[in-house]
Amino acid sequence: MTQAKEKTHEFRAEVRKVLNILTHSLYTNREIFLRELISNASDALDKLRFRISRGEKPLAPDMPLEIRISIDKDKKLLTIADAGIGMNEGELAENLGTIAKSGSEEFLAQLNSVTPPRGEDAGEERPDAANIVGRFGIGFYSIFMVAEKVEVVSRPAFGEAVAHIWTSDGLGAYSVEPAGDGAPERGTVVKAYLKENAAEFLEKFRVESVIRNHSAFMPFPILLDGSRVNSEPALWLEPKFSIKKEQYDTFYKTLTYDAKEPLDALHLSVDAPVQFNALLFIPDGAQDFFGADRDFWGIDLYTRRVLIQRRNKDLIPEYLAFFKGVADTEDLPLNISRETLQENVLLRKINQVVVKQALNHLEKTARDNPEKYSRFWRLHGKIFKLGYHDFPNRERVSALLRFNSSSLDESDALTGLDDYMTRAPEGQKTFWYVSAPNREAARLNPHTERFRSKGIEVLYLYEPVDEFVMEGLGKYKEWDFKSVENAPDDALSTFEDKNEVSPKSVPLSEEEQNECAKLLDRMKDILGDKVREVRVSHRLENSPSVLVSPDGSMTSSMEKLLKVMQKDDSPSIKILEVNQNHPLLRAMLKIFRADPQDSLLVLMTRGLFDASLLLDGFISEPQALALRMNGLLTETAALYAEVRKL
Ligand code: ADP
Ligand code: MG
Repeated sequence: MTQAKEKTHEFRAEVRKVLNILTHSLYTNREIFLRELISNASDALDKLRFRISRGEKPLAPDMPLEIRISIDKDKKLLTIADAGIGMNEGELAENLGTIAKSGSEEFLAQLNSVTPPRGEDAGEERPDAANIVGRFGIGFYSIFMVAEKVEVVSRPAFGEAVAHIWTSDGLGAYSVEPAGDGAPERGTVVKAYLKENAAEFLEKFRVESVIRNHSAFMPFPILLDGSRVNSEPALWLEPKFSIKKEQYDTFYKTLTYDAKEPLDALHLSVDAPVQFNALLFIPDGAQDFFGADRDFWGIDLYTRRVLIQRRNKDLIPEYLAFFKGVADTEDLPLNISRETLQENVLLRKINQVVVKQALNHLEKTARDNPEKYSRFWRLHGKIFKLGYHDFPNRERVSALLRFNSSSLDESDALTGLDDYMTRAPEGQKTFWYVSAPNREAARLNPHTERFRSKGIEVLYLYEPVDEFVMEGLGKYKEWDFKSVENAPDDALSTFEDKNEVSPKSVPLSEEEQNECAKLLDRMKDILGDKVREVRVSHRLENSPSVLVSPDGSMTSSMEKLLKVMQKDDSPSIKILEVNQNHPLLRAMLKIFRADPQDSLLVLMTRGLFDASLLLDGFISEPQALALRMNGLLTETAALYAEVRKL
């Protein structure tokens, strides 16, 4: 151990090695040296305040508790001064001459072995101790990333009031000797003589932005060349009941640069299973997480008011990416590297609590303020849906999903799965859905006809991702999810007709049935490879025909999505189902019976197929389609004129 009495001391060999590593590779980002020095100054002020609160009298009691930073361009000198607890000769050598020696850690250890003072504030927490940032004893050395020479002049606030000066170039040795003139009345002045390549830290705007970025929420005023830089309180550490809504709003706006107030604020103070405070906001505007804002999410991570990382993505899952805010934990070392941060168990634990609390909050909003919840859903539902990936919370996420549906009157009304269940008739165990670009398309989809007449609600899925969500969820409360397109013929047979059903036409005789089967064969001949099969439908009420996928295959919207990915715009080969009770089909049957080769049958079959394809969402050859339509119109117009003898 070095002797404080000697003037010059060698750093111990291993210290020198570690110093080299520290200054060259511990921090990828040089500017954080300032964060470390400010944190140390803040710790020193905190320790002083704590001792004063216990009744001790410091030197120069009128000196303000603040941190002063000044720039001297001529001398290439950056100075950080605090009127804090200071260090005596021995402490200068001990704390700054030994790596991984933290005076702060010792201070905290001592604090824990002392019983709190009796009196009015007995039984109170020790708020000052919680503020102390340092405890690892390496932060100070980061100064040598930017300084070629460092002087630390310090006069302890208690005990012997003698000032000493510690000097080092950070390479091999340091010295401690009595300070001459210009030593502070109390506390510590750190003078960094900057290296040639660190001249940027002599620019006021640069220094100011570093302070704002990393140390904006320090509990003491920071003055740069006399003017105050930090003014925001670390709102997340203040007791909830003392904070007004305006304060939350202001904090949110400073944090996000959003001009609008947030939709909601969520303030968490958690002690178990992990200690942290967090302030999270739900913005009142949508973000484009699937485009421009792809990576622009995450929670700002602080430890004891000092910024560790902006937009940390381990603290919150992607489906909650709409939350903006900060989290602060005391249990994280300040000088933790990004790599270690990533594997940190602590962050994972915080993440779990954040998810739990966020879901609690959303559930409460959905219950108590459905209107606000709907607003939330319209703004952020798109990303929140991805929560179906969160297996442990799947049930809770499912309950929070919202959809438009056939039972709602308005196109922008919303329902949840639980409400859907309460409306379902006895015996229903499936959430039925249809994918469509909009409400009109969903209602006109021939597959939904049967459901309408049975009074069975169909959820309308307007976004491509919705079907993946349904498939991903698989089940909710023992009910499964199914597309109406994949509903088997007998899916609804046990349910009674609820809504008026179009008058049923006279059933076909056996002979007519046979003729009809031949007509379908003829139609298949006409359509050729365009369809896999033409068959009688049992799912239609009012439409003459519908295209269906061969059993068990995917829905048409899923298929479209895949085709987009494969840059394929051809419709896939499906089955054409026809409604043999429809007037069109009955008329076609008559024509067919009179002459199976009638050319009008060709035009009609193609027209029917075209219409089905359109309803399925495909317009692949618009020109050819228009030609066929014109052909059909010409033919029917001519026939009409002939019949009416016009
Ligand atoms: P840490 O802050 O993690 O303890 P540092 O390397 O940053 O480690 O600092 C080492 C020690 O030096 C601190 O614990 C503290 O005891 C002492 N120290 C550093 N800066 C100051 C200061 N401005 N005033 C008083 N003590 C200080
Ligand atoms: Mg420190």
